Amino acid sequence: MKICPVCKSEKISMLAGGITGMYECMNCGYRGSLIIEEQSKKKQKNEG
Ligand SMILES: [Zn+2]
Repeated sequence: MKICPVCKSEKISMLAGGITGMYECMNCGYRGSLIIEEQSKKKQKNEG
C-alpha cells in the first residue's frame, strides 16, 4: 500500500491517472512523487 510521507495516511491517489507519477494525499493534501510504499503482507524470512 502507499502511505503519505507527511501524515502517514493511506488515502493516497494518483494525480492525472498516474501519468505524471505524482500522488495526492486525500488527508492532508500533500502532492508529490515521493510516497512511502509498504507491504501489507509481511514476508517471513527464509534464510538458509
Ligand atoms: Zn498526507
